[in-house]
Amino acid sequence: MIRATCSISSNQTRRQRLGLRRTQHSGDVPRKGSNCRASRAEKASIEGNGRLVWQTIIGHDAVADSFRASLQRGRLASSFLFVGPSGIGKRRFALRLAAALLCETHPAVELDPCGECQSCRQVAAATHPDLLLISRPADKTELPLSLFVGDREHRNQQGLCHDISLRPMRGQRRVAIVDDADLMSEEAANCLLKTLEEPPPGSVLILIGTSPERQLPTIRSRCQVMRFHPPAAEDAARLIAAEMGITDPREALRLAIHAGGSMERAAQLRDTELWTFRQGFLLGLADLPAASVALATRTVAFVEEVGKEAVERRARLRLVIEFGVDFFRGLMRRLSGSQASADSHGDDQLPVAVERALGSAAPWTDEQAAESLDRCLEALSQLDRNVHLSTLIECWMDDLAQLASGQSIAKVGQAIA
Ligand SMILES: [Zn+2]
Repeated sequence: MIRATCSISSNQTRRQRLGLRRTQHSGDVPRKGSNCRASRAEKASIEGNGRLVWQTIIGHDAVADSFRASLQRGRLASSFLFVGPSGIGKRRFALRLAAALLCETHPAVELDPCGECQSCRQVAAATHPDLLLISRPADKTELPLSLFVGDREHRNQQGLCHDISLRPMRGQRRVAIVDDADLMSEEAANCLLKTLEEPPPGSVLILIGTSPERQLPTIRSRCQVMRFHPPAAEDAARLIAAEMGITDPREALRLAIHAGGSMERAAQLRDTELWTFRQGFLLGLADLPAASVALATRTVAFVEEVGKEAVERRARLRLVIEFGVDFFRGLMRRLSGSQASADSHGDDQLPVAVERALGSAAPWTDEQAAESLDRCLEALSQLDRNVHLSTLIECWMDDLAQLASGQSIAKVGQAIA
């Protein structure tokens, strides 16, 4: 019997290394040989009896309508590229689509999986033999080639490109979801091209990334691009309150706004340690340039505290840099005449820091605030380019200090680019 999903050894350690984890949530017994992986957010979407709670997919009606229309015309494309900010439900949507395409009770054209048949239950539990799921392994910065074409010993006998070509085991088609597609190595992308050019009949391949620009033009041109937008803050807040068990609507709205509609970021932002750090960090920014060295030291320590994993450190630094973005945006709004508290949505840290910056001996100008904001955005893109984190932090703080003291930073970023 062909093993379910990606044909990688069932050895646990090896699976974790390759980023193919079993689902682990109460009430679901993972099948032997299942290599699918469910994120915490998806686990939250699986409730009682393995039913997917469809109503938790919010704000993507236009994309759903487009799929429904293609299915009704019998012209569903075989390759899709889902793009949009991370954490807003693209993966959840892809799983629901997979369930609809694989459901044994409701016709796919309805795009309304029953949630109860064997197939729907297996999709919910990420154990469906015709559903292939791959994502970046926790210890890697990219999607390795082996996930697509097998490791050296099993080249072209394993991996997604091989498995999707096999005859479906339960139904009419195989569905593959490639998460973290922004992080596909060029080699992996080139191997995937052949599958995209000659997709197995009925198969559906979904790549999930953040923007079309992050894909090779050859990949982009072979996929139908589906754009996902963050849900409205109020909708996201309702979902956050329900999924995280938050009873205070103000708290849920504050998280929704700060997370930009991303459930993933909202979960990260619940960390109280982070908000304590943020308070000191924002005040430190207000005290630039004097506070720059201390701020850099504190930031390095805070990022390292999260653990040894580069991925975790990078995620934490991303949040810190985004605090910088919040601060300079707030400062710019205030300099342009907005009231500090008008749009703070329960965030009492930011207005305090902004007022402190404005009350300093050398007040900020619009230009300084705008350039500092640009420098924070630059730091975010440097983070994506895998630069050394301490160096990134030190250069970033150094440049912000220079801007705060009225100097230009024309050579910004060159030292570590
Ligand atoms: Zn079903």
